[in-house]
Order: sequence, then C-alpha cells, then structure tokens
Amino acid sequence: MTLKVYNTIARGEQPFEPLEPGRVTMYVCGPTVYNFAHIGNARPAVVFDVLYRVLQVLYPQVIYARNITDVDDKISQAAIDEGVPIGVIAARFTRAYHEDMAALSVLPPVIEPRVTDHVPQIIAMIERLVAAGHAYEAEGHVLFHVPSFPDYGRLSGRDRAEMIAGARIEVAPYKRDPADFVLWKPSTPELPGWDSPWGRGRPGWHIECSTMAEQHLGETIDIHGGGQDLIFPHHENEIAQSTCAHAGREYVRYWMHNGFLKIEHEKMSKSLGNVRLVHDLLQEVPGETIRLALLLAHYRKPLDWTADLLAQAQQTLDRLYGALRRLEPVTAEAPDLPPDSVLGPLLDDLNTPRALAELLQIARTANTAGSDEELARAKGRLLAGARLLGLLGQSPDAWFGRTGADDLDVERIEALIEARTAARARRDFAEADRIREELTSLGIVLEDGKDGTTWRRVR
Ligand code: AMP
Ligand code: ZN
Repeated sequence: MTLKVYNTIARGEQPFEPLEPGRVTMYVCGPTVYNFAHIGNARPAVVFDVLYRVLQVLYPQVIYARNITDVDDKISQAAIDEGVPIGVIAARFTRAYHEDMAALSVLPPVIEPRVTDHVPQIIAMIERLVAAGHAYEAEGHVLFHVPSFPDYGRLSGRDRAEMIAGARIEVAPYKRDPADFVLWKPSTPELPGWDSPWGRGRPGWHIECSTMAEQHLGETIDIHGGGQDLIFPHHENEIAQSTCAHAGREYVRYWMHNGFLKIEHEKMSKSLGNVRLVHDLLQEVPGETIRLALLLAHYRKPLDWTADLLAQAQQTLDRLYGALRRLEPVTAEAPDLPPDSVLGPLLDDLNTPRALAELLQIARTANTAGSDEELARAKGRLLAGARLLGLLGQSPDAWFGRTGADDLDVERIEALIEARTAARARRDFAEADRIREELTSLGIVLEDGKDGTTWRRVR
C-alpha cells in the first residue's frame, strides 16, 4: 500500500516516502483572516483534510501544520475602517473559520501557527538571509535578491520575463533587481509594526510561511500544499528563502496544489459579485453536502460549483444515509482499517470521485446483504470508508430530519425518473410529462443535461 502523489515540482506522480520513516510533516497555507472564508478557500482545507486522514492510516505520526495569517494589509484596512486593533478583526474571522471548517468536518490541524506569534523568528530568519548575502536592506525594506538563488523559477517553470510580469512586482527604485521581493517593510504609525534592526515594520507574506514551517516542522518538510494560485510567487519565494536560509538543503519534498473553484462556469470574484461564503452556504445546505460536493472532482482539476453539483452531493448523501438507516438494526463490525476499495483510489493521488463511487458500491451491498454477518460487515466497511472521507458524521435520523427527505423518497424519485427516461425514449411524451408533474408535486425539480437527468428538492 503506497501512496502516490502528483508532485508539482517534479511535474508528475511519484511514490510518497517520508524523510523519516513513520513520521510525516505537512504544511498547508491557511487563511488570511480579514473576512469569512469563501467556498474556494474551503477547497484546500477539505482536500488536505482527506490527505491528512489517509496519511494517518498509513503512518503512526503525522504532523500537520496549517497557519493563520493574522497580519496583512487587508486586515489592517478592515481594522482602520472599524476603528479597532487588527487583533479584533483577526480573532473574529479566525473563530468564524474554525466554525465553518468544523461544519465541513475538517479536522483541526496538529499545529495552527499564527504569524503574530512568530515575529522574532521571522526577523531572525531575515537576518540570516542578509548575513548570507541573499537579502539586503533598502530604505527601511529588506528584499530578497533573486539572482542570488540560481534555482529560482524551478517550481513554477516560468522564465524571468514571465515571473516579473506575473508577480505584478512593484518597480521600486531601491530594488537591485526587478524580481527582488519584500521580506520586511516599514510601517506607518497607523499600521501594525514591530521593532526590528531595520526600524519599525512588518513582515512580507512569503517569509512568514518559511519561518513557521521551519519552526514547527524543521528545515525539510515532506508535503507542502495550497491552491494553484500560490505556486507563483508565494511558494517559489518560500523555496528561495528557506533553501538559502538552510545552506541549500531541500525545503519541500512533495509540492501539492489544488485546482481552482469556479461558480456556475465563471471565475469567482468580487467584481462579478459571485463570491459564495461558506458561512452563508451553511444556512442553505448541510456542511456534509458542501464537503462532498468539494470532493466530487479530482483535487487537481478545476471544480465548477453549480446547483447540479450540490444536487448530486445531496443525493449521494441521501443514498449513503439511506443505507446506514437500513443497517441500523445491526451492530457494525469495527474494522481498524478502511476498506481497500475506498483507500485504494485515494492512494492514487487522492482520487476522491472514484473513492466515492466505491463507497456507494458498499452502500449497495448493504441493500442486498442477506445474513446478519453480511450486514454487520457492510456496516463496518461503510462507516470506515466514510470516515476516511470525513462523511457520515451524524445519525440517519439527524440527516433525514434536517433535509426533510427520507431514503424511500430517494428510491421512489429515482424510479420515477427512470420511468420518465424510458417514456421519452419510446416517444411517449404525455407519460413523460405526467411523471414530471408527479415529481413536481413532490417538490422535486428535474434538469435534463447532456449526462442525463438530475434532480433537486425545492422544498
Ligand atoms: P487566501 O486566504 O486568499 O490566502 O487563500 C487561502 C487558500 O485558498 C489558498 O490555498 C488559496 O490557494 C485557496 N483558494 C483561494 N481561492 C480559491 C479558489 N477559487 N479555488 C480554490 N482554492 C482557492
Ligand atoms: Zn504560505
């Protein structure tokens, strides 16, 4: 049983092997806490939560750190707008992030470092970079000198012109090279700041992650994750800083990046007005539905957040909870390990769509099992497989009570949809329309798409 992961820097899949046998270190870039998390921010949290669960099955010790960026210009602006210290904004949205992630069944990481608790260590790392000739002070700023690190650009595969254009780098007269980036910047009196050898200021974003990863996980870490937008410049800069601060030792062995989430085929952005906050979505749909929807696409692929996707997630959960309800009379055999059929696809670079299909297959065996032993075994497998994906965290009663559905409904609805498809195929449109109306009266709307008919509840 070996885990294979796609390593961004190797541009291909590799067998995963931790640096130290039996002990895995993983760092994931966490949220900047100036607002509620949107559904795109939830994707890395959920994807790397599944990876964390898989690693825990495979290794006795998994040290997972996911940071909180609690000093940032957007936080400062929010604090100025409200007339409160930055700590008030950061505490409010850190709490909201914890609540939202718990609602999505995301396990807390082992370590959750905050930037404001690491300023002395950040200053010390910058001093090491200056002393080694990789960074220099200029007008109250400290900059990393990119030409001092010949490997720069290896992760993102960009050439120099693309890097300079892509980073939207400020052209500042004090920079020795246009690609140089900020490690430390001066603060005006109304901005948060700390005393440093270069005057009162605050750290740049990239150095924070390098410092916190070093402090909590060591110089070389096994897995570093985040969204694909972080490959450049954030992770490229982390590599430059950490490698140069550690005398050339490797910083990260496996780089993993999740694809981006779109909303109804469009980029999610403030200017399009289509940003969906997890906090708001949770008023409309259960957290488990949101979680499962995020796992319906492979993590490296783009994910289109649509009404159909949520309907599919809801139906999948109705099926799983329906099977669990039918299994209520039996006591589950408690397997220590999740079933191979669910674990296997996850070992293959976290293939969650295939793992979910296998979980549904187990639910089907629960429907056809004959003896009590078979039922108990099916229940144990269903629960262990679901746990690996962070699903089936509540009782069937709680689930169906909340969604107002029940498992018989699901079977009946799907039987009616099949009958309608058959009627359409024999061009009996009167019957097809009659069935659609019957479903409408049950509060079910149908949507015919190129991949067949999907349905969702409207009440
Ligand atoms: P931020 O708080 O903006 O630093 O983002 C936190 C995490 O969310 C990072 O790993 C980002 O790459 C990720 N992220 C932001 N927007 C999206 C999106 N639309 N789809 C997927 N991941 C995203
Ligand atoms: Zn980071």
